Amino acid sequence: MEIIHEPRVYLVSRQTLDRDAIDQFLDQYGMSWETDTEVGGEQLVEASGRVCYMSFGKGRKTNSEYIGNLISMKHGSVLEHASWEFVIAGVSRSFSHELVRHRAGWAYSQLSQRYVDESVANFVEPQIIAEDERLHQIWQRSVEASHQAYRELAEGLMEKVAARQNGAGTKTHQRKLSREAARSVLPNATETMIFCSANARALRHFFELRGSEGAEAEIRRVAIKLLRLMQDEAPTLFGDYEIITLEDGSEVTQTQFQKV
Ligand SMILES: Cc1cc2nc3c(=O)[nH]c(=O)nc-3n(C[C@H](O)[C@H](O)[C@H](O)COP(=O)(O)OP(=O)(O)OC[C@H]3O[C@@H](n4cnc5c(N)ncnc54)[C@H](O)[C@@H]3O)c2cc1C
Repeated sequence: MEIIHEPRVYLVSRQTLDRDAIDQFLDQYGMSWETDTEVGGEQLVEASGRVCYMSFGKGRKTNSEYIGNLISMKHGSVLEHASWEFVIAGVSRSFSHELVRHRAGWAYSQLSQRYVDESVANFVEPQIIAEDERLHQIWQRSVEASHQAYRELAEGLMEKVAARQNGAGTKTHQRKLSREAARSVLPNATETMIFCSANARALRHFFELRGSEGAEAEIRRVAIKLLRLMQDEAPTLFGDYEIITLEDGSEVTQTQFQKV
C-alpha cells in the first residue's frame, strides 16, 4: 500500500482548428482572417465568436483582445467550443465525489471499483493529517484495517457467490458481485483515477468554485494545478486568474471576471 500526498494532473488531448476549412468558408464571403495565436482552443473561441457578427478581419486585432472582450462581456457560451481532456490520478474517492458534481461541460470516465481489484490499492492522506505524527498513526491504522477487511470480504464473497451460482455464471461476473459488496468498507481515502473532458467555460467555473478559500483542500490543490496547466496552454482564456498564497501556505485563485 502506498500513501499518496500529491495529486497528478495530465493534459492528454487538445483540439485544433482546421484553418483550410475556415479559409474556404470565408472565401465564399470574400473575407479572410489572421490570428496571432497558435493555440487550437484560443483559435476556436475566436473563430466561433467572429461568426456571430462576421467580424473576420475587422475590429479587435489580437486574440487576447478578442477573448478578453468576450470574457468581460460575459459571452461565456462561445467559450464552450474549446475543450480539453485530462487524466487526474493520485486523488481520493472523496475528491472524485466532489469533482463529478460539476455537470455542465464536463464528461467523466472513472476507475471502476466493481471491475478493478482493490486488494492492492493506494490511499490519499490529507496534508493536515500527514504533518502530525500522532494523527498520521491513527489514520494509517484505520486505512490498513479497512483495507484488510476489504481483502477478507472479497475472498469470502467470492466463495459465497461461486457456491450460490453452483457452476453457473462467469468468473468475471462473480468477481464483480464480490467486489461491489466488499468495496463498501473501503475508505474515502482510496485512490482513484478519472479521465475528464471539460470546455473552457466549465473549467473557469471550476477554478472559481474549487480554487476558492472555502473549497476542500484536495480539490483546491487539483484546481490550482489544473489552472497552472491551462494558463500555460491557453493564456488568453485563463490568464486573468491570479494565484494567491495564503498565510497557511495554501493557494487560492481569484479573478475579476466571475461566472462568464
Ligand atoms: C465550497 C463548496 C462547498 C460545497 N458544499 C456542498 C455540500 O455541502 N453539499 C452538496 O451537495 N454540494 C456541495 N457543493 C457542491 C455544489 O453545490 C455544486 O454541486 C458544485 O459546486 C457544482 O456547481 P454547479 O452546479 O454550479 O456546476 P455545474 O453542474 O457544472 O453547473 C454549472 C452552471 O450551469 C448551470 N446549471 C447546471 N445545471 C443546471 C440545471 N439543471 N438547471 C439550471 N442551471 C443549471 C448553473 O448556472 C451552474 O452554476 C459545494 C461546493 C463548494 C464549492
